[in-house]
Amino acid sequence: MKRVRIVVFFDCVMAVFLLCLVFQQRFLNAAVETGKRNEMIQEETKRVALTFDDGPNPEYTEKLLDGLKDREVKATFFLLGNQVELYPDIVKRMHEEGHLIGNHSYDHVNLGALCESEACTQIKKTNDAIYKVTGEYPEYLRPPFGSVKNKLDEDMNMIVTLWDIDTRDWEVQNVASIESKVLGKAKDGEIILMHDAYATSVTAALDLIDKMKQDGYEFVTVDELIFE
Ligand SMILES: [Zn+2]
Repeated sequence: MKRVRIVVFFDCVMAVFLLCLVFQQRFLNAAVETGKRNEMIQEETKRVALTFDDGPNPEYTEKLLDGLKDREVKATFFLLGNQVELYPDIVKRMHEEGHLIGNHSYDHVNLGALCESEACTQIKKTNDAIYKVTGEYPEYLRPPFGSVKNKLDEDMNMIVTLWDIDTRDWEVQNVASIESKVLGKAKDGEIILMHDAYATSVTAALDLIDKMKQDGYEFVTVDELIFE
């Protein structure tokens, strides 16, 4: 009788041991699967920054802001100082909704062709106009035409931000043509140049967000792209 009890006891111990082994294996498999899935998501996520120059525009910027808000996307706006002074409410909304605001000169001038003091004035006047509305001085400068003299950015303590993809939206003013410059071409970490000054640009930008999100793109602001 004693012998039978011992056998039953060992059978039970063995059964518990085997069950533990099975559960441990399943747990390990699940952990490996989760790890693989996370790696794939990281590999597939491509981050790009949509940037809009020449605003704020009284007709189109708010339409763009509405669309960005619906899609929970943050963009970067390089503003003209004179437009900021004309339409401060749009700039205020832009800031409150978490978009990054940069400097695009006061009068859309070729900073590279100006003498140093005139170029500095263009930047400073715009920084002051933006500060007056948002309470923050912009740190990023996109010189019109991508033209800037050496060291102006250092002298003004600003980060010059150019672009990787120029949609030439101001020239073509055609949604399909704008999209064709970006779809299937934008790579991880790239900056896309557009202008919130045309209906076609707003439509194309929002459409690009919808299409590219499905392909694993994430839309971030320029500072996130550069520093994170
Ligand atoms: Zn411009």
